[in-house]
Amino acid sequence: MEHNLYIYNTLSRKKEQFIPLHDNKVGMYVCGPTVYGDAHLGHARPAITFDILFRYLQHLGYKVRYVRNITDVGHLENDADSGEDKIAKKARLDQLEPMEVVQYYLNRYHKSMEALNVLPPSIEPHASGHIMEQIDFVQKILDAGFAYESEGSVYFDVEKYNKTNNYGKLSGRNIDELLETTRDLEGQSEKRRSFDFALWKKASPEHIMRWKAPWSEGFPGWHLECSAMGTKYLGDEFDIHGGGMDLMFPHHECEIAQNKAGLGKDSVKYWMHNNMITIAGQKMGKSLGNFITLDEFFTGNHKLLSQAFSPMTVRFFILQAHYRSTVDFSSEALQASEKGLSRLMEGYKNIDLIKANDINKPTQLEDNLISEIISDAEKAMLDDLNTPIVISYLFDAVKLINAAKSGDRTLSTIQIKRLKEFFDLYIIEILGLKAEGQYTSSDEAYKKAIDLLLNMRLEAKQNKDWATSDKIRNELTALGFEIKDTKDGFEWKI
Ligand code: ZN
Repeated sequence: MEHNLYIYNTLSRKKEQFIPLHDNKVGMYVCGPTVYGDAHLGHARPAITFDILFRYLQHLGYKVRYVRNITDVGHLENDADSGEDKIAKKARLDQLEPMEVVQYYLNRYHKSMEALNVLPPSIEPHASGHIMEQIDFVQKILDAGFAYESEGSVYFDVEKYNKTNNYGKLSGRNIDELLETTRDLEGQSEKRRSFDFALWKKASPEHIMRWKAPWSEGFPGWHLECSAMGTKYLGDEFDIHGGGMDLMFPHHECEIAQNKAGLGKDSVKYWMHNNMITIAGQKMGKSLGNFITLDEFFTGNHKLLSQAFSPMTVRFFILQAHYRSTVDFSSEALQASEKGLSRLMEGYKNIDLIKANDINKPTQLEDNLISEIISDAEKAMLDDLNTPIVISYLFDAVKLINAAKSGDRTLSTIQIKRLKEFFDLYIIEILGLKAEGQYTSSDEAYKKAIDLLLNMRLEAKQNKDWATSDKIRNELTALGFEIKDTKDGFEWKI
């Protein structure tokens, strides 16, 4: 494959040339959501970051197997080994089956991802669907001598592992530092050391989500699912593992230790982490209570939002920062993104409106300008997916197009074609932006509003309130809606 893609490897702390393990095939694993609530802006960032990588690797000609997991068991409230399971707690509060909670939020997550034009991964495995694989993995670590059983639970022996390996190599922590910072945790007495982490937890009597294992009836530790599912679908060694920076410790650090202990090798060649989204400098997160859900962005229904923002505005806002920089959210910043995006998409549309001039020979100047924009944008993508720089070159192209449209510059048919191809490739294929209608809220809300009006008309008819019924029909017709009465009610289209 002819390219010089460089990506920043969190493990080596430097940019490295991307050389896959198996010529044209790439295995990529990204930690997906724990589905116990609506996706927020903090979920959009890793999804969009690794969507760009997924798209770009495919553009470079790779066959990518992209695995993004669904955490539906074992993620306890405090992200460590104690507290209630996040899904089980939501199920208890809402009086639902845990899998009802999972399905409900997963459906909503998929809808949000589709709205953001995030491509679906190749495989989306559920932790709860891979309990056998996780039990096998625990057994491997036990057999290798890096874990111990204690009162029905199994813990990873961090101190023993660290004698021959470097626990903390990803996040840069060391065990002495950990000993000082680890808080006293509930159930800690079962563990030999406070920093040991659970591979398998014995379920307490009231714990609903439980499976039979050799050690007890219980459930797997949170970190284990990614070790088990990553290697199941991508092999013991694979190319890329991604996720948010907040997962580096303990989640990914533990995953590295589990794989090395259980499989005898380091599974991942490139570790990649996106930075966080902050609100007034503070991390945005469900546990912090300062998050805005994606639906709230799309409808504008949140006190921190001055208006609704379309999914593409949110996507563009995220792409305007490099994935390794923090992004500070504000309504003003999003408004600026909205304006920027509309200027970009307007420029994209304007390409079709330029009158080509092939009689007066096009100047070398424009040829050079276009070549430079195209090659600089490619360089920026190859340099650790530098999307904000790519966007700046897209705006350079917009300037050229607008000048040609207004007659200040002359472009030939071939030059216009090159610009069009450049925009098709970068705007649509690589950055995954698309034109949106005038409705900033979701199409569904719009459909529901029309259905609501037509149901009111139906009620009016049943009450023989012909004036209201006719008014609704006539005014919708005047707006361009075609309404048909059927025996079950109505049908409509615009
Ligand atoms: Zn994970």
